[in-house]
Amino acid sequence: MIVILRPDATEANVQHIIERAGKLGLKANISRGVERTVIGFIGPEDALRVIPLEVFPGVDQVLQVLAPYKLVSREFKSENTVIKLPYNVTVGGKKIAVMAGPCSIENYKGMAAIAKLVKVLGADILRGGAFKPRTSPYDFQGLGEEGLKILQAVGKEVGICTISEVMDTRQVELVAKYVDILQIGARNMQNFSLLKEVGSTKKPVMLKRGMSATVKEWLMSAEYLLANGNFDVMLCERGIRTFETATRNTLDINAVAVAKRLSHLPVVVDPSHGTGSWEYVAAGARAGVAAGCDALMVEVHDNPEEALSDGAQSLMPDKFQELMASAKRVAKAVDRDI
Ligand code: PEP
Ligand code: MN
Repeated sequence: MIVILRPDATEANVQHIIERAGKLGLKANISRGVERTVIGFIGPEDALRVIPLEVFPGVDQVLQVLAPYKLVSREFKSENTVIKLPYNVTVGGKKIAVMAGPCSIENYKGMAAIAKLVKVLGADILRGGAFKPRTSPYDFQGLGEEGLKILQAVGKEVGICTISEVMDTRQVELVAKYVDILQIGARNMQNFSLLKEVGSTKKPVMLKRGMSATVKEWLMSAEYLLANGNFDVMLCERGIRTFETATRNTLDINAVAVAKRLSHLPVVVDPSHGTGSWEYVAAGARAGVAAGCDALMVEVHDNPEEALSDGAQSLMPDKFQELMASAKRVAKAVDRDI
């Protein structure tokens, strides 16, 4: 249930409504827009039938949110969410943010070299996994905390934001200590304990879509993060499983437009995992921009042949430079900047 207040509603009106509903066991989430304030109530909806909120001072309309995701929905918040990050980086505004870097953090020297390079070429956020969700237990599992230390040190040295995956509830505090954005991977999209734990931190988070998840399931997972108090959430489309075998996954461009319509949260497109092949990454990135994404995540490596994970889909620096140039042209065509 959402309560839309009149433009002239006072803070006292807001507090009065929250207090009355709170007594019925309802938790309020306030969204203060430019024009109006909206209060979303989560809890036993029946309780709201007891009090006629429509007649409370300052109330304009009371709406039932039909979608199962509430706080994530555009009904709750019509304006786009803009997430503020260090170094004046934002995700969700007119400028499309670019996250780039290797799949895995491998060593300090390599990380520093890639970081400097991608920053010069226009990236805003440095990516790199320290805890890797590998299909085989015999594959490289990541450097763990040592990797996070490298990522943090390089981020500071180069002056760029950082993002890294957290796979387990026991690692949330540790990863949050080192990075600017927590990444929840596709394989953990429905790890509800992890979602609750990350939801109770104040760190911005990027939630990847599960490889077999519907848009609705993806938004429901995001709802866990918001319902636990974390509103700095970005959604990431990274390709889904289909019958197609020509590419590793099928980048679901539809999902970008759908998620943007249904939700106020920023949407990131990851054409690296979405295609699985460096040859198609730029095409996927441009399609994502054209479809209205707010950020791109691209795997870049200066020696993909030797990469410890995902070499086949990693771009060499010159290809990343080309991607940036062509994505910029598409961004301009849809009235965005990169
Ligand atoms: C990654 O970003 O390296 C990764 C493992 O992504 P996903 O969870 O989308 O497979
Ligand atoms: Mn990867």
